[in-house]
Amino acid sequence: MYNEPALVIFSGGQDSTTCLFWAKQEFKDVYALSFRYGQKHEKEVELARAIAAKAGVDFQVMDAPLIGHLGSNALTDTTIPMDSEQPEGGVPNTFVPGRNLFFLAIAAVHAREKGIRHLVTGVSQTDFSGYPDCRDSFIRSMNVTLNLAMDAQFVIHTPLMWLDKAETWALADRLGVLDLVRHDTLTCYNGIPGDGCGHCPACKLRREGLERYLASREACTGRPQGQ
Ligand code: ZN
Repeated sequence: MYNEPALVIFSGGQDSTTCLFWAKQEFKDVYALSFRYGQKHEKEVELARAIAAKAGVDFQVMDAPLIGHLGSNALTDTTIPMDSEQPEGGVPNTFVPGRNLFFLAIAAVHAREKGIRHLVTGVSQTDFSGYPDCRDSFIRSMNVTLNLAMDAQFVIHTPLMWLDKAETWALADRLGVLDLVRHDTLTCYNGIPGDGCGHCPACKLRREGLERYLASREACTGRPQGQ
C-alpha cells in the first residue's frame, strides 16, 4: 500500500468503478474525478457521484464539453448511429478522439494542484475495442509527456491493462464489490445502468465477461450463478 493519495479518473462504469475500489485498497486517500465531455448520457455523472459516495471517496466533476465536440463520434453526437462492430482497418465511431489524452492531461493538472502524483485509469489493452488511447504504449508515452510537461513525477496506474472482462469481474469480486459493480454502474452505450440494454457492443462485452467469470467461479466453488 502506498502511503500517498491517488486520483482516479472515474466515469461510473464497470472498469473505473473496479479501479476506484482497487485504489482504495492501494492508496492512503482516494479522489475521484469525472468529466462532462458532451456525452449523450450525462446521468452517468450522477451515477458516478452516488458510487463515490458509497465508496466514501471525494468526488469532483470537470466540465470539458470541448472534448466531445471537437471530433465527430457516436457517443456525443445523437445523429450518428453507433457501429456495432469495429470496422475493417479503423476505429469504431464510438471512439471519442483524444478523450483519454484530454482526461489524463486535465486530471494531472488537477492532481498536481492537490499535491497528488498517482493517477489511476481503467483502460485495458486486452479489451480495448479498437480504441488506440486504451493501449499500454499510449499510457506510457503520456506518463512521460506529463512528467516532461510539468517537471513532475506522475505515476499512471492501469490495474486493468492486461485483464479481459471476465478477469475484471474477478477483480471486482475479490475486492468485495461484484454486486455493486453489477447493479450500480453504467457501461451501456444506450444509457441503461446495471445489466444495460443487452445489445450494444459495451453491454455484449460486459455480459460475456460476467457470464464467463460466473461460470468459472461456479466451476471452482460450486456456488451457483448470481449468488
Ligand atoms: Zn447497452
